[in-house]
Amino acid sequence: MLDINLECPPHGKGEGPPLPHRPQSALFLDLDGTLAPIEATPGAVGPDRDRTRLLRRLVERFNGRVAILSGRSIAEVDRILQGAVVSVAGVHGLERRSSRGDVTGVQSDPALERVAETLECFAKGQRGLLVENKGRSVALHYRAHPPAEEACLDIGRRLAAVHGLQIQEGRMVIELRTPGPDKGGSLELFMAAKPFAGAIPIMVGDDLTDEHAFRTAEALGGWSVLVGDPRPSAALYRLPDPAAVLAWLEQAAA
Ligand SMILES: [Mg+2]
Repeated sequence: MLDINLECPPHGKGEGPPLPHRPQSALFLDLDGTLAPIEATPGAVGPDRDRTRLLRRLVERFNGRVAILSGRSIAEVDRILQGAVVSVAGVHGLERRSSRGDVTGVQSDPALERVAETLECFAKGQRGLLVENKGRSVALHYRAHPPAEEACLDIGRRLAAVHGLQIQEGRMVIELRTPGPDKGGSLELFMAAKPFAGAIPIMVGDDLTDEHAFRTAEALGGWSVLVGDPRPSAALYRLPDPAAVLAWLEQAAA
């Protein structure tokens, strides 16, 4: 859990965020559950022509101050968003592509291969579990079989302790990752350089892993939007689902 006092966003359902002030704002957007509905498997999320067009327009309108912060790899983000956004932090910040297109990343922990094998064996014995090896992290998805949550958390915590890895809990997924930057750290790195430096950061996301970035955005003078049902969050505003996010972004790009 996060080491902060979380409060429910003060804005009730239907009361969305204000429109970002274009000349001053920078947009930081999560992908799954924020720009795209959550699907049964990660591979089921595909490109969408209207969304791609909208993102390209946002990049233009905000003078390049748009970044994607996702748990997916950069390659996966590019597949789904058709390369519309250059500034991308992948695998929750373990890899990052700057606005100039330079890619950096932390070295993958060698223990992850063993962890992936162990999780594959574990998943084979249970219905509806899916292992996703992202290189710098390995995710175990239990969306197709939510009752497996306890067992997944248990094996995840034990593997993290044995191999000195970080465990990250998300919506219907646990992830064993190489220790390194989280989404908040990525947001900070983007904000330290052009074209983001000096702008007001606005972070939009749905998951627990986005809370780090919500706090960082606020610490840097910005604000955040939680996507989904009300829950304790560091975000100031809330939108109910990805469709509402896209409608809000359409207005911001108009
Ligand atoms: Mg998400």
